[in-house]
Amino acid sequence: MKRFLTLVAAALLSAMAFAQPDTPVVRYLRENPRRAAFNTHSYEFLPLHDTPAPKGYKPFYISHYGRHGSRSEWGGFQYAFVRDILAKGAEQGILTPAGDSLMHEAAFIFESYNGMDGRLTPRGVREHAALADRMYHRYPQVFKDGCKHIRAVSSTVPRCIVSMNGFTARLAAIQPDLDLDLDTGETYMKYISQGENETISERTRKALAERRKNAPALDTVTVLKNLFTDPAAGRKLIPDLNRFQGAIYATAKVAEAFDIDDNLFRYLPFENVVRFHEDNFLSAYLNQANSELNGQLRIPLNKPLVDVLIRQADDVVTGKVQRAADLTFGHDWPFLGLVSYLGLEGVSEKLSIDEAAANWLPSWYCPFAANLQMIFYRSRKSDRVLVKFLHNERESSIPALTPVQGPYYDWEDVKAYVAKRVPTAGIVAHRGWWNDNAENSVASLGKAQDFGCWGSEFDLHLTADNAVIVNHDGSIGGIDIQKSTLAEVRTKTLKNGETVPTLDEYLAQGEKSKDCVLVLELKPQAGAEREDVLVDACIKALRAHKLWNPSRAAFISFSHHICRELARKAPGFTVQYLGGEIAPAQLHAEGINGIDYHYSVFYKHPEWVKEAHDLGMSVNVWTVDARKDLEAMRDLGVDQITTNDPALTRTVLWEACR
Ligand code: MG
Repeated sequence: MKRFLTLVAAALLSAMAFAQPDTPVVRYLRENPRRAAFNTHSYEFLPLHDTPAPKGYKPFYISHYGRHGSRSEWGGFQYAFVRDILAKGAEQGILTPAGDSLMHEAAFIFESYNGMDGRLTPRGVREHAALADRMYHRYPQVFKDGCKHIRAVSSTVPRCIVSMNGFTARLAAIQPDLDLDLDTGETYMKYISQGENETISERTRKALAERRKNAPALDTVTVLKNLFTDPAAGRKLIPDLNRFQGAIYATAKVAEAFDIDDNLFRYLPFENVVRFHEDNFLSAYLNQANSELNGQLRIPLNKPLVDVLIRQADDVVTGKVQRAADLTFGHDWPFLGLVSYLGLEGVSEKLSIDEAAANWLPSWYCPFAANLQMIFYRSRKSDRVLVKFLHNERESSIPALTPVQGPYYDWEDVKAYVAKRVPTAGIVAHRGWWNDNAENSVASLGKAQDFGCWGSEFDLHLTADNAVIVNHDGSIGGIDIQKSTLAEVRTKTLKNGETVPTLDEYLAQGEKSKDCVLVLELKPQAGAEREDVLVDACIKALRAHKLWNPSRAAFISFSHHICRELARKAPGFTVQYLGGEIAPAQLHAEGINGIDYHYSVFYKHPEWVKEAHDLGMSVNVWTVDARKDLEAMRDLGVDQITTNDPALTRTVLWEACR
């Protein structure tokens, strides 16, 4: 009894310590506690309001991006863990009615889950059918009056395909003469499912770990009181109380997906639910949305999806394609990236972690079946096309853009805005980012990777015994690399204490980030024969490190011969010539697909940027450190900027964005 009183006292103290501030997020959870499921909250349909379109305007086309509907979670062991502990309590006769209820619910969820991770549940299908129903009946003229063709494309993941089927089957049931065209495949994944990034995940992990350090301990007492008539005896059944509460939270999160009409979060103290919820959704906010921490890295990753949706719509607007609707079915991370890219109100706000914890409403922004609908309008009396954005079916706005009227935007304004939403140039760290370490050091590559540079450049020489060494100059510490052996070169150190790295050591660091392109500069050697040896050695090393992939490595060289050899031996890879004296067309004719010229060349020949682009070539520029030159090269529209100052470059690139 004494122990129980101590537990109760501790509960009171902890309840006081955890008193929740009255933030929008906390109010939102109090209003409907099931929202604590965050991105596994089933779709919550709220009353809609339609602002009348400007006079004479009628809807004619819809572009819909929908996240799959309610699904099971991964790892049913959480539900089994809850069920089994409570079953032991039942054997001892110490369960409260709440404990008994949770035991049966956990058992039901475990059985329904049935070992199928991420499976769309019947509720998920119904969510999509209902969405289709409402879309149709809200804008029937789009389907009845115009062309009856609808194209639907899904992620290759089964829950998205089944969502697509649920949605389109309902449309076909309502209007059997619709011409529905469904597809899925790897090609579509390049835009439907992009946006995962290791650099961003790592930064998120570190930031959240730092934040958790200051978090007070969880209330571990209330849950025992809720579930057991003898809390002290119940406690003995649980190996780890925090883990047990985490498992209850995980069980509660998916209850809705399995049509359980009960709020399972009620078994936990509200303060703990707020904590679990916050931990979960902050990770999504930082990884997927426009956060202060990662937004500049994250949002540009959604460009392929935005470009496809804009092009699809524009093809219909310009009459190139006849279509009533384009439907796309995917996942939460591209969805959040998409609405953030478009700068929709609320969801796309750039917040600090603390601001997001208080204000960002995850289960409203991205529940199961979250969707974006762009509704297009035209009038017989005007060429102007208008578009309205619906986020989860409710009218939304783009605060950075002035509408024509109400939530209706000029399509041309939207396209111009989207084109300037993210920088078009990637940042290449010149010899790594070496301001606090050493040029061409392994540490300088690591720093460029951590910063989220598009790429990191480094210089390569061949030793007399055919080893490849990373160093800028042809000599180091008084020895000539090309005339020395690897052993001789390796007696030298960089100013940060590293031994002069070999290409192998450098690539080992390169393997650690899929998101930072390795830009290999192959230095001219004494004659074509030696240059061929260097080219072959680089290719062999990339293959050995599983980096033989055009999205992981690119090549630059002042040697025209090396560039020609690489164009031949590394098809599909970017190869940029550095010399600066050759017009793009000539290089293109030789099969070289890029230029990387000093900025002074582009001041003299600004037309070479467009000439190269028209030929499908990439354009990089070196080495741009001054603000005025960075601005000039940014405005010329180069694809990459090689710089010693990635931070200033990022600032200047984003200054031109909206
Ligand atoms: Mg270089």
